[in-house]
Amino acid sequence: MAIAPRLPELDFEAMSAEDLLRWAHQEFGERLCLTCSWQKQSSVLVHMVSQLDLDVPIIELDTQLFFRETYETRDRLVERYGLELLPPPFVISVAEQHMQEGPNLWETDPDRCCHIRKVEPLLTALEPYSAWISGIRREQSPSRADTPKVQWSERYGVWKIHPLVDWNSERVQAYITVNEIPYNPLHDAGYRSIGCIPCTRPTAPGEEERAGRWAGSDKLECGIHQDTPLPKEMNV
Ligand code: SF4
Repeated sequence: MAIAPRLPELDFEAMSAEDLLRWAHQEFGERLCLTCSWQKQSSVLVHMVSQLDLDVPIIELDTQLFFRETYETRDRLVERYGLELLPPPFVISVAEQHMQEGPNLWETDPDRCCHIRKVEPLLTALEPYSAWISGIRREQSPSRADTPKVQWSERYGVWKIHPLVDWNSERVQAYITVNEIPYNPLHDAGYRSIGCIPCTRPTAPGEEERAGRWAGSDKLECGIHQDTPLPKEMNV
């Protein structure tokens, strides 16, 4: 089990998103990274890091099953901000996964599919880092409602930094609009949360923000934001 290194005793909850990013960059330096899934939160964080002139490497967790609009959003952000993305961590191709695990693993065992395509690549990608900036927000689902601004992850052995955790969706959209930041157009077509094509649908009015992810199943999270050690059967 990874032991959490000590951090200064600061009131992280009172910090603005910008202050938290500045602090994290000062505290962790080149051992700090940002992950992007090219939803609205990625747009906000890419812009904010650029405005603050912080040099933070960006990890793209590409499952190879994203929507065309998601890849186009990435390309627009790369062009607008001159981003140099880190090489994506290795993941077997979808065709190889079909051969090894059977067809459409996302239907038969979505936890296994997320483990192969998201959790394992992230474990590899985070190895050189001590802290990871993520755009998750408390409002997104009950499973994220108690997320702190700074949190130790036993699973990944890093501090997780959540600058937008107390932002609601209106604030995210307002920030994007005011700053004219490119964002994923699927959000305007009812996709309030966007992941892989097979596991994402638009949400209906009144549904939770993440209700369109793994709809019809009891799965709530892909596993990359679960911070407990991996179950033994996965840890092979
Ligand atoms: S979200 Fe669906 S397709 Fe993507 S990795 Fe998870 S189970 Fe597989």
